[in-house]
Amino acid sequence: MSKENKGLDRSLIKRLLDADCEDPLANTDQLTSQAIPHDVDRRNFLIRSAVGGAAAVMMGSSVSAQERTAKALATMPQQATGRSTAIPPPTGKTGPPPPLDKDLNVVKKGQGPVMTTADEFYKVGPGPSSSHTIGPMRITYDFYQRATKLPADKLAKATKLQVNLFGSLSATGKGHGTERAALAGLVGKEPATVDPKFLDSLRDKPDQTFPVKLGDKSIDVSLKDVIYDATKGDFKHPNTMTVKLLAGNDVLLEQEYYSVGGGFIEWKGYTPPKKNAPKYPFRLMKELRAHADRDKISIAKVILANEMSIAGRSEEEVYAFIDKIINAMVATVKSGLSMPEDDVLPGPIKLHSKAATVYKRALDDKYAADKGIGALSAFALAASEENGRGHLVITAPTGGSAGVMPALVYGLLEVRKLDRQKIRDGMLAALAVGYLCKHHATLSAAEGGCQAEIGVASSMAAALTATAYDAESRVVENAAESALEHHLGMTCDPVAGYVQVPCIERCAFGAVKAWTAYAIASNEIASRHRVDFDATVMALAETAKDMNSKYKETSEAGLALSVTLC
Ligand code: SF4
Repeated sequence: MSKENKGLDRSLIKRLLDADCEDPLANTDQLTSQAIPHDVDRRNFLIRSAVGGAAAVMMGSSVSAQERTAKALATMPQQATGRSTAIPPPTGKTGPPPPLDKDLNVVKKGQGPVMTTADEFYKVGPGPSSSHTIGPMRITYDFYQRATKLPADKLAKATKLQVNLFGSLSATGKGHGTERAALAGLVGKEPATVDPKFLDSLRDKPDQTFPVKLGDKSIDVSLKDVIYDATKGDFKHPNTMTVKLLAGNDVLLEQEYYSVGGGFIEWKGYTPPKKNAPKYPFRLMKELRAHADRDKISIAKVILANEMSIAGRSEEEVYAFIDKIINAMVATVKSGLSMPEDDVLPGPIKLHSKAATVYKRALDDKYAADKGIGALSAFALAASEENGRGHLVITAPTGGSAGVMPALVYGLLEVRKLDRQKIRDGMLAALAVGYLCKHHATLSAAEGGCQAEIGVASSMAAALTATAYDAESRVVENAAESALEHHLGMTCDPVAGYVQVPCIERCAFGAVKAWTAYAIASNEIASRHRVDFDATVMALAETAKDMNSKYKETSEAGLALSVTLC
């Protein structure tokens, strides 16, 4: 993803970050050349560039980036450069072209302020994957709504509805139940209200047919109408699908859709809905914190004000929605913990549920810290196993990561008994983290691997925890940064295409890492934290771009390859 099409403006972030540095040698960006020529010894070049830059700063002079590069190259031994000219051409980025089409809104969005709202972000729906179940169900439901608006004479000719799944949706859709979710949307079911038993019945009796009413016409649909199509091709997004209404071989209506992560959907020609201006416009954590610190309010209050201004909602309405999500998260943990200890999750892995066992045994641990870590892990396992069962979960930010945030919400609200308002504030601060990751990087494993799911979830949970404990904005940022930083590079390789291994335990690790990030951030000297959140989001976006596509929810590599099921 280049600067033009992926939103994250490195130079803008660098300029904003540099403005804070008072120590002339503190900012190494000013000392070294950032553009490293591609055909030189990287370490040698950086050392020479830094020495030259530091000497200039200490002598009170300044040198341009080009001069620093030229000087570093001029002093390098010949064999380290592999060439004789001093100033390199601009290197730019090498490697494969960006995988995403630049027309997608999910690509263009990073240019303006964050405009996402809570009800778009936290979605209730059936597991196991927001991009492979909630997104496709929303897509076919959307198509069904469009089809009902066709003129009566067109509808009278309709004979068939057909869904084609491409890319990652086709590669791992069977393990996610994508065909069942797509069929459910076609027959008018919505993610937040669908009864998971309906989806289970499709799994247990796959030959069922359902009548779809379109005007005076009724068309029978079944799982056979959902086709697992090409897994590789020149798609605008890895999660592409088409839906058609046919009259014999003639197409009456066709739409190409994209499930872009976290249950968000777009389609060919999509334009985002018009929204009001945010009270506190921001596109970086740095800007968000500046609003908070200037007005002496918390990050949570900045987000609350924006939710009210962008969506035109009252404070009560925003909190009512947040309460609904908190309650749903608590319910998923409770439901998961209440499952029998010998329950086996659906699918070929035959994975035994372990949440209740881990919880019970953790309570018997001798040391309080062991008890805490064990119980927190059990809460995450419980919600994540619910996702594996295809039961209702909450995208925070996705289905695969749906155990992380609920674990912290449950622990803080039900175990530590923190005031509900603290949890509400934490949920709002967590939104800020999720919004920024979505804005500049991705929430889609098909686009960025597991770092975009569990990594973002853990970062959100760290911000939630720090906020719930009244941490200042810098500590909230540091906690979120730390949790995200230590998930960078994490790949997505679900065994057999089922969101169970490594996903369920990974949620537990994400929850514990969130707590660790909070523990470090609240105990360190906040101003000495050297990595800022915006830089880590940039690293997330860049790592997503560089990651081998085999590790992006295709089940073609990693654990998906090495684990043998018998
Ligand atoms: S490995 Fe991570 S990103 Fe991939 S399906 Fe599992 S939880 Fe989601």
